[in-house]
Amino acid sequence: MSNYSYPLFDRISIECNSYCNRDCSFCTRTYDNREKVRMPLSLIYKVLKDLNEGGFKGLISFHFYNEIFTDNRIFEIFEKCKELGLNNYLVTNGDLLTKEKVKKLSRYNIREFTLSLYDSKDREDFEERAQQYIEHYQLDAYGWELIILNGGEGFTNRAGYVDHVEEKVKLPVKSSCSKIVKKVDVRYDGEVVMCCLDYYGLHSIGNINNQNIIDIWHSEKKRHQLIDLAKGNRYKYELCSRCSDYMIDV
Ligand code: SF4
Repeated sequence: MSNYSYPLFDRISIECNSYCNRDCSFCTRTYDNREKVRMPLSLIYKVLKDLNEGGFKGLISFHFYNEIFTDNRIFEIFEKCKELGLNNYLVTNGDLLTKEKVKKLSRYNIREFTLSLYDSKDREDFEERAQQYIEHYQLDAYGWELIILNGGEGFTNRAGYVDHVEEKVKLPVKSSCSKIVKKVDVRYDGEVVMCCLDYYGLHSIGNINNQNIIDIWHSEKKRHQLIDLAKGNRYKYELCSRCSDYMIDV
């Protein structure tokens, strides 16, 4: 078991604050009164330093269950990444975008820009709105890869935390999970959670307040999770046993 080796993640999401301006029916946060706080800048800079010193070459974002533009420090944080030679991706619902903000973003190391649009009546309406956003904010005028999603489409019940759709499969699923292999998520309080569905840190693998993110990734806990989920043993984890997401055949 301890000989089992695996590569470093290629994406990390660090939740810079705990707030979102929306209350979507398919989002765990909507049904939770969590505190409204910001991750201290000193902690964000600490984890960025750990990533830099650990030779991380992947992409860093600052969302989890928050909307990044509700945090007015976001440009300062992107600036810090640039200073350290780190690259970013971002995901936003677009509500708080302005032309000036988009232009300002283009100065940083943002390699991928994902706009997740909500409230579309149907596919046609979504296509129309996406085009309007592109033209109005000139989202395709910069060097990043632009991705526009019809927000919420295809979302499941978030490992049982919401009742967004009727569950179609028998739980626990006996399928391996693609979610935890290449990405890691850090909650606003520093908890490094199992995956992007682990809102409450039920299967936390560490905390960046007192551990290095690279060490957390290579911890025994993480190793066990990878091995178990590669074998399709979702039943071993409370969260995974309720989850029908990210299935790959075993
Ligand atoms: S099975 Fe579901 S809850 Fe478990 S790690 Fe994968 S995506 Fe997350």
